[in-house]
Amino acid sequence: MRRLLCLVLLLCSAQLHAEPGFISRLLNHPVPGGVAVVPLGDGAEAPGVRYQGKPVLVVREEGRRWIAIVGIPLKSAAGVQQLTLSDGRQLSFTVGTKHYREQRIKLKNTRQVNPLAEDMARINRELAEQTKAYQTFSPAQPSNLMFDKPVNGPLSSPFGLRRFFNGEERNPHSGLDFAVGAGTPIKSPAAGKVILIGDYFFNGNTVFVDHGQGLISMFCHMSKVDVKLGQSLPRGGIVGRVGATGRATGPHMHWNVSLNDTRVDPAIFIGAFKP
Ligand code: ZN
Repeated sequence: MRRLLCLVLLLCSAQLHAEPGFISRLLNHPVPGGVAVVPLGDGAEAPGVRYQGKPVLVVREEGRRWIAIVGIPLKSAAGVQQLTLSDGRQLSFTVGTKHYREQRIKLKNTRQVNPLAEDMARINRELAEQTKAYQTFSPAQPSNLMFDKPVNGPLSSPFGLRRFFNGEERNPHSGLDFAVGAGTPIKSPAAGKVILIGDYFFNGNTVFVDHGQGLISMFCHMSKVDVKLGQSLPRGGIVGRVGATGRATGPHMHWNVSLNDTRVDPAIFIGAFKP
């Protein structure tokens, strides 16, 4: 009888361990442009993890096992992907499929569709600056992985839309839009540090906030920036105001979320992911 009880207890605790926690259930959407949560075991120290050569966010889930939270590129094919651990072990996860819709946008300013030769030097310089910011990997743990919405308002254009400007295909939508009026304050969805501020050709007034371990938010098209470079922000700290600067058809809030230098669907982090 005692042996049976032991077995039952053992099975229960095994099940408890196998059951994914809240963060895993919220964030695990392993599709192109999504996030994979990969369990790493419950060792004393956090294992170092890389995906496609880039360092990956690792946290301890609810005081139990370690998990890797991996950003999956929008261009990724479906199938098995590998993570490399610092001890040389390889762990695999499977990427599924997701269909992304098309969006057609008319722009009066044709220079924003086909920039002039003189614009290209600026665009390339700004791209390099922003790419470098996305590659930041600071050791701090994010204050919260379930993000607060940066503004209160309805979602408009989702992440990943295939975009055609005046009939010409351009990069897919790298973030999530909220339909809110000009001047609305934009709040940092988690604590962070301001690592880049710019006034860019496509993005207009832009701020990058590093939440730690490669988890980065980018806000753009702002009418006003309310932070300084290097400033630390609390969760909910005001970054700037909604506007329509850069390539925008009207005021709205555009928010990018990046993990391991990969832009992923911000809707995942606010519990609004649609498969
Ligand atoms: Zn947008």
